[in-house]
Amino acid sequence: MSLLPWHGEIWERLNGLKGRLPHAVLLKGRMGIGKLTLAQYWAKALLCEKPGQWDEPCGRCVACGWFQQGNHPDFRLVEPDSSGEEGTESGESRVKRSRQHIGVEQIRDLSDFLNVSSHRGGFRIALIHPADAMNAPAANALLKTLEEPGAGTVFILVSHHPQRLPATVLSRCHQISATRPDPGAAQGWLKEQGAAEPELCLAEAGGAPLAALEFSDVEYRQVRKNFLDALAKPKTLDPIVLADRLQKVEPARIVLWLQKWCYDLASLRLAGRVRYNPDFAERIAAVAPGTDLPGLTRYLRTLVAAQRVAQHPLNSRLFAEDLLLSYRELAQSRRGNS
Ligand SMILES: [Zn+2]
Repeated sequence: MSLLPWHGEIWERLNGLKGRLPHAVLLKGRMGIGKLTLAQYWAKALLCEKPGQWDEPCGRCVACGWFQQGNHPDFRLVEPDSSGEEGTESGESRVKRSRQHIGVEQIRDLSDFLNVSSHRGGFRIALIHPADAMNAPAANALLKTLEEPGAGTVFILVSHHPQRLPATVLSRCHQISATRPDPGAAQGWLKEQGAAEPELCLAEAGGAPLAALEFSDVEYRQVRKNFLDALAKPKTLDPIVLADRLQKVEPARIVLWLQKWCYDLASLRLAGRVRYNPDFAERIAAVAPGTDLPGLTRYLRTLVAAQRVAQHPLNSRLFAEDLLLSYRELAQSRRGNS
């Protein structure tokens, strides 16, 4: 576990808290920029018994050893509960699991852990990720602990959607924003990871490198390209055939592709540029004049609603067919006028 290349500045800010460490720190910022990695690295540094000259974890002491093995007695990572989840480790179940909540029992367990004194005489650290996954009873339980934190207790909350946290919790956290990495640093890192088409992956991920890495798989690149190829030819797009071909693709993924494509259509009409799919810029420019702008806005709203049910559509194929049918109509909605 090491610091990511774009985390230098935020690492200094976190380190600057030392000496007057708040009981709760909220690390916020967009998904896929490595907030969890950073939070874990910081926790490891706080627990390290022989930190280096920049307060980085030494990686060799007994505390670092425990941390690396995931069993430091003064550290707890709280994530959405996956117990009771059925199915295999397929992509779909990973997505389902990531939608689950952090429940009140998990926060109560945390209180029990915090009520025992530190094993190593240092900090006791609770890392909650993502903090916005806490349901209301869990957030209330956490609030009680935040109101009367024990000595040496540090909460690190990581969140992509801090606005979903109750104001009462937010007000008790020292907030630190992780900004989007510099594109050069992000692309360099992606190249080091062996990512195919790092620039395009980064654009598709809205500048978030860890998210971009997930888009760099060669097979993924091809399936995405085939799909966008079909969107670029609305005249010949056959929703039934295409939905059939997409059966192995998660419905949530299809919605995301449609959202980014339509966002680019709107962005091109309004601001003259595409953001997510620069490799399709010319073809987006060819489709854009045929699309009706108010219709595009309505369709984007439909996609937001579709994203909510995309984890468990009753029938994935019909779900995709419906969305593609509406897209085909939309992409030809101004044809009669031109
Ligand atoms: Zn150490």
